[in-house]
Amino acid sequence: MTDRIREFLRTARPEGPCLVVDLDVVRDNYRAFAKALPDTRVFYAVKANPEPAVLSALAELGSSFDCATPAEIEMALAAGASPDRISYGNTIKKERDIARAYALGVRLFAVDCEEEVGKIARVARGAKVFCRILCDGAGAEWPLSRKFGCVPEMAIDVLEHAHRVGLDAYGVSFHVGSQQGNVGAWNGALASAAMIFRALGERGIQLRMVNLGGGFPAKYLKEIPVVQTYAQAISSALRRHFGNRIPETIIEPGRGMVGDAGIIKSEVVLISRKDVGDLRWVYLDIGKFGGLAETMDESIRYPIRTPRDGAPMEPCVLAGPTCDSADVLYERTPYDLPISLSIGDEVLIEGTGAYTTTYSSVAFNGFPPLKSYVI
Ligand SMILES: *Cc1c(COP(=O)(O)O)cnc(C)c1O
Repeated sequence: MTDRIREFLRTARPEGPCLVVDLDVVRDNYRAFAKALPDTRVFYAVKANPEPAVLSALAELGSSFDCATPAEIEMALAAGASPDRISYGNTIKKERDIARAYALGVRLFAVDCEEEVGKIARVARGAKVFCRILCDGAGAEWPLSRKFGCVPEMAIDVLEHAHRVGLDAYGVSFHVGSQQGNVGAWNGALASAAMIFRALGERGIQLRMVNLGGGFPAKYLKEIPVVQTYAQAISSALRRHFGNRIPETIIEPGRGMVGDAGIIKSEVVLISRKDVGDLRWVYLDIGKFGGLAETMDESIRYPIRTPRDGAPMEPCVLAGPTCDSADVLYERTPYDLPISLSIGDEVLIEGTGAYTTTYSSVAFNGFPPLKSYVI
C-alpha cells in the first residue's frame, strides 16, 4: 500500500471494485531491473498490464515491449515505442498477424517449431527469430511449462531451418515459470542455451541472443528475494555456461514490473455459514471472473488487508459474487480473516497490478469489467 494509493482511495472514493496502480512503483521497478542487469534490455511483457499510462511511463524510461498480438504491438507503438523496441514473443501466431506486425515494423519473432518458422519466412523476410525451449517451471507458483517451447535438441534444428530459409537465427528464449521463487531456476535453461549456441556454431551459424524471459516475482504473502539477487544468480549462470563469450540478453518481466504497483479495492457482500459451526464463507464483490483468475487452483495467494486487521482471526472460505460455483478464491486452503470482519467492510487486495484487469470478464452476470485507475 503506498501513500499515493491510500490518498486516492480516500479522496476519489471510487464506487465498486477497482484496481489502483501507482506509476511511481512501476518506475522504481523498471529502474531496479535496469540497474541490476545493466547489459540486458528490458522488454516489458505487455499482457501483465497493458494500461496506456503504464506503457507510456515505461516507454519514457527506455523500456522495450514483449507483445503477443498485433493489438498489443499497436498499444506499445501508441505508447511511444519504436518498432525496434518491440518483440512478437508469442509462439502461436496467425500468418496474417505476423504480416501485420512486419508491416508495423516489428522484426523480432519467437518460434518453437519449423511450422512457425515457415510462416515467418513467408511474410517477414529477413526477420530475427529466437527459438523458445521448454522449461519445467519448477519453483514457480504459476508455471508456464509444456505449452510453449521445444526440447533443446529440437531447437537446434528449428534455428538451422530458420537460417536455411533466409531468416536471421538470432537466439534462444525460455521462461522459468511465473512467480519464480528460486533464483537458481535460470541455470539449467542457460546450460541448454549454451549447448544450442555451440551446436549451431559447429554448423556455421552464430547465435547472438538469449531471452531470459519473465518469472521475477511480486511480493504476495511470502518474502521474495530482491531483483539484485536474481541478477547475480543469472549473471553467474551466464558466465558459467558462456565463459567470456556472453551473448546479448533480454528479460521480459511482467509480474515483477507491475504486480506490487497495484491494489484492488473490494467490499464484503455477504458472510454466512453452510451449517452451524462450519467455516465462515466470505463473499467479496470481486472473484475469479472479476479479475482474480490467478487464484485458479489457489495458485496465487494475495495479501488481503481489512479495516479490522490486528483483531483475532479465523480461517474462512473466500469467494466471489457471481452465480458460478467455480467462483471461489480460497477453499482448499482457507484464508485467515478477522472474526469481526463484517458485511460492507472494505478490503484491499494487494499485489494485484499484474494479470487482473485483462482477465476480468466482459459482463458475466452483469458485473462490469474491473475498473482501473493509474495514478
Ligand atoms: C507472460 C510472459 C512473460 C511475463 O512473465 P512474468 O512471469 O509475468 O514476468 C514474459 N515472457 C513471455 C513470453 C510471456 O508469455
